[in-house]
Amino acid sequence: MSSKKMTEPRRSAIKKELRYVAILRIGNNSEVSYVREIKAEVIQNTVRDLFLQANYFIGKDVYDKLKEQCEIEESPVGKSVLKQIIENDEIASKEQIPICQDTGLAVAFIELGQEVLIVDGDFNEAINQGVREAYTKGFLRKSVVSDPVFDRKNTKDNTPAIIHVKIVPGDKVKITVTAKGIGSENMSSLKMLKPADGVEGVKKFVVDTAVNAGPNPCPPIIVGVGIGGTMEMAAILSKKALLRPVGQYNGDLRYAQLEDEILQEINKSGIGPGGLGGRTTALAVNIEYFPTHIAGLPVAVNICCHASRHAEKVI
Ligand code: SF4
Repeated sequence: MSSKKMTEPRRSAIKKELRYVAILRIGNNSEVSYVREIKAEVIQNTVRDLFLQANYFIGKDVYDKLKEQCEIEESPVGKSVLKQIIENDEIASKEQIPICQDTGLAVAFIELGQEVLIVDGDFNEAINQGVREAYTKGFLRKSVVSDPVFDRKNTKDNTPAIIHVKIVPGDKVKITVTAKGIGSENMSSLKMLKPADGVEGVKKFVVDTAVNAGPNPCPPIIVGVGIGGTMEMAAILSKKALLRPVGQYNGDLRYAQLEDEILQEINKSGIGPGGLGGRTTALAVNIEYFPTHIAGLPVAVNICCHASRHAEKVI
């Protein structure tokens, strides 16, 4: 909870639209702090709207890149596949129908401000209810089975969602959702490299993973790479990397160069759009990294198809 006292801008925010509540600071009887209330229903409705938006409307970054590649693709078949993908994306947004029949697993990344209090409901359930509403009312395919091994029964509402929460400073909630198709997810991979494998080892693993995937992840693909941390941190980073806009390179020039080199290598493979040949196998390689152990070099590769569906909102 916040230890901030109420400031003048905050007073006026309360008058306008936001609702803050006073809390007594533990260990200090004389001071009162303020947290912002957000109703669980607001979270639920936001999640619902974001999943509908993600499933119907391809991001401008991906759309523009597909058009750009369509102009320069050398393979006539590859060019034709890119044209069909672009047309498909245009029809989906115009008629508000899913970009792809596989409307994916529902993944939500939440940045929860530490000055926020979720009220009138359970936070996780609000997210799941938002997913439920989007996938049932929006007639999106429900693809979740209740048990991965023994009881593969469809839960019939695409829940439970996969929820990642990070506590951040402030009084806002940022919700980013992604509808992740399993065709490309299945082609993803993780390896605990040795530090001695170095940059060349990282490059080889990422390129091999993308090229060995061949046509299975519905190319052109976007390649998310997570490097460092622990095994699970690298995997989460690789998924987060997919949320960075296509064409926006890592802020660290060394990683930006590595992204570019890997992209060029993958596109030399000749897999092409739809796996039918051409230069456009990948639209982007996005790397995210994190400090790691002296004896480790975890690398995760999360592949996403051209139907890269995600949306975000700050409440
Ligand atoms: S990999 Fe992507 S484009 Fe291919 S079927 Fe799955 S969601 Fe659709």
